[in-house]
Amino acid sequence: MKKVSLIIPCYNEEQALPIFAGELDKVRQELRQYDFEVLMVNDGSSDKTLETMKKISEEYDYFKYLSFSRNFGKEAAMYAGFCNADGDYVAVMDADMQDPPSLLPEMLGILEQGEYDSVATRRVTRKGEPPIRSWFARMFYKIINKISDSDVVDGARDFRLMKAEMKDAIVSMCEYNRFSKGIFGWIGFRTKWLEYENVERVAGETKWNFWKLFKYALDGIINFSGS
Ligand code: UDP
Ligand code: MG
Repeated sequence: MKKVSLIIPCYNEEQALPIFAGELDKVRQELRQYDFEVLMVNDGSSDKTLETMKKISEEYDYFKYLSFSRNFGKEAAMYAGFCNADGDYVAVMDADMQDPPSLLPEMLGILEQGEYDSVATRRVTRKGEPPIRSWFARMFYKIINKISDSDVVDGARDFRLMKAEMKDAIVSMCEYNRFSKGIFGWIGFRTKWLEYENVERVAGETKWNFWKLFKYALDGIINFSGS
């Protein structure tokens, strides 16, 4: 039986996590031909995320968790997940339902056909986002695609399902300041893009503010200029 590993970076997601777990479990019922493992990564949350993870892993035996001593950021949480995921297929998903678990059957179907190594997702609207944030995002993609050989797709989410070979390539890149949106494209592999409408977070709040995003964009530009 093939195994699917799902990595869920979580920072203060005590409200969203139980909803995610319930919805994912419904999707898993439709995918009984696979073994599932869910790696929840607690990125130094200050709310009851860790306690929530413990409860969820008692309820569903395929949910496991890792916990950081402090908040290191989503990139570090994703990397810890990649290092610990041993499925034939591996995906990163947010805890807040903005990466719909209902897309998983289609994504797995595409990889099973063998033509692609990964299925990535891209939102085609920025509905519900402050206009200033959309403007900066558009500028960022313009700049990074001018100065970098790595194609960084506008609207690309970190939500993507990949074969183990691609995950191994990601793990082997020991970047210190990781910028996954660049790394995913840079390592090559055949990727199919799925487009979908933006979905609003189910509970809790976005962890990004303007300065965090600005720093993230700078990391991307510094890491991928001229490469
Ligand atoms: N996240 C994390 N560490 C952080 C910030 C965010 O692990 O320092 C997680 C967060 O819990 C969520 C995902 O990364 O599962 C995406 O964060 P968020 O929904 O706030 O970002 P947005 O969707 O607004 O871009
Ligand atoms: Mg979100």
